[in-house]
Parts: sequence; C-alpha cells; structure tokens
Amino acid sequence: MVAGPTYDALLRDTAVALTAAGIDNVRFEARLLLGRAAGLSVEQLVAHGGDPAPAGVVATMRELTGRRVRREPMAYILGEREFWGLPFKVSPAVLVPRPDSETLIETVLDLLPERERPLRILDLGVGSGCLLLTLLREYPNATGTGVDASPEAVVIAGENAGTLGVAPRLRLVVDDWRRAGWAGRLDGPFDLLVSNPPYIETSTIMTLMPEVANHEPRLALDGGPDGLEAYRIIAAAAPGLIVPGGWALVEGGEGQAIDISRIFSAAGMSPRPPRKDLGGVERVVAFQH
Ligand code: GLN
Repeated sequence: MVAGPTYDALLRDTAVALTAAGIDNVRFEARLLLGRAAGLSVEQLVAHGGDPAPAGVVATMRELTGRRVRREPMAYILGEREFWGLPFKVSPAVLVPRPDSETLIETVLDLLPERERPLRILDLGVGSGCLLLTLLREYPNATGTGVDASPEAVVIAGENAGTLGVAPRLRLVVDDWRRAGWAGRLDGPFDLLVSNPPYIETSTIMTLMPEVANHEPRLALDGGPDGLEAYRIIAAAAPGLIVPGGWALVEGGEGQAIDISRIFSAAGMSPRPPRKDLGGVERVVAFQH
C-alpha cells in the first residue's frame, strides 16, 4: 500500500492552494484547517508532521481547503469565532463577530461602570449574540432582549447563550424593524439599546472582500442606498424604547459617525463624541435619552 501524504505535506499543499486563492496568513490558516481535519492541536501537528495522514483526514482536508479557496470565511468553516475572549458559535446566518465591535463593549463599560446594576438591555439585530451575550456576562444582574429578522440567527444566539450560561436572563425575538409596529411589540422600556445594524451602501457590497460580499448574510450588511437606512428606523424608535437618562450605542462604518449623530440628534437623542476602534475608525456613537 502506498502511504498517503504526511501532515507536513498536507500543510504545504494547503498553503500553496490558499496563496493561489489570494489569501494572506496561509501557514496559519493551513494549520487551523489541518488541526480541524485531523482533530489535532498545533503541538500535535508539529510532533507528527512526518507521519502519513490517514485517508479520512486527507479527504476532509481537501473539502475544507476547497471551501476556503472559494473564500468562505474561516469562522464559518471552523464554526466558531472568539469575541471579547468568549467562544461564539457562528454559521452563514450570522455576521462573523469582528474585533471592531469590541469597541462598543468598551464604550458601554465606560458609560455604565456599576456592574451590579440590573440593566435591561435591548440588542437590535442580535446575530450570533456577540454584543448582547458579552454584556450579560459583564453585567451579572442584567437582562437582555435580542431581536433578529432571521430565525436561523436567533437559534445561533440561543445556543451561544446556553454555552455562555446567560440563557436564563435572555429573551430572543424574531421580528423585523422594517415591519410596522415592531418597537411596540417589544417588552420595553430598556436602560440600554445596542446595535450593529447593516450599514454598507447597497451598491458597494460587491466591492467588499469576497468573504464578506459572497458569504456573509446580506440582511446583516445592506444598509440601503446610503447605508443609513437602519439608523433612521432605530433612531425614530429609540426615545420610545429607552428610559429617560438611558443610552443607545450603535456601531457604524468608516465616515458614518457624523451622519449617525445627526440622525439620532434629530430624533431627540443627545450624542457623545464617537469612539475610535483600534484601526482609528470612528466606530461607535453613544446617545443619551
Ligand atoms: N463591519 C462589516 C464590514 O465591514 C459590516 C457590518 C455591518 O454592516 N454591520 O464588512
């Protein structure tokens, strides 16, 4: 019997295939994919690099590499992404949690330093739950309502809540802010509203990285012709959803902070200066009611 390729050979072949697909960090990604295909840690892969890989591992590796070559996000292939040091299950029904969004968590912690408060938190477009579930972990007496138009996303958020131990303090609702009456159907009022709504201009979505443009949910990206459609809807409802003195914090894209501030100001919410993410982009705007 002819021995199959070694683990090291699989790593090299995968790195070559990923490079040809225009991907960076190919050694790193190849190791993650092989670790997943083989069920081995990075240390074990190094220790066994010269061993022939079992046929099943070779076949799985071919499948996973093919998906990545088609620029499916690593997070969907691995089924998980870390956010704020916590593990979040993800699927193509939810946006992949991004480090930029941790800026929103930091802003909340600064504005509301008393961690024991029984905050009532609303997350519009809850997705994987990375924002809301992280906040429920940081505020042990808080309760949360997470809304998403995607039933598949709500299932993922619910699973993550179970894993993170916050399910008893969470309510999940399938509803769509494009449907009349949505705000009135929520169990408000809330002390804090958070949202990372879709904010990409419709016409520019296809210019984004293929991982985003071809694989992430359109519902979570498409902010309408000027990218600001969701903010208009959320801002109009915010004063009715948030207690006087309560807060709304929203994430936005590069160059949008001024427009977002204007939209919420016009709705009667008082903006704070935008907060920058680690890349220097004004990422989060906070408003007080
Ligand atoms: N941050 C995402 C991106 O750039 C967009 C997410 C969103 O629209 N909320 O690709």
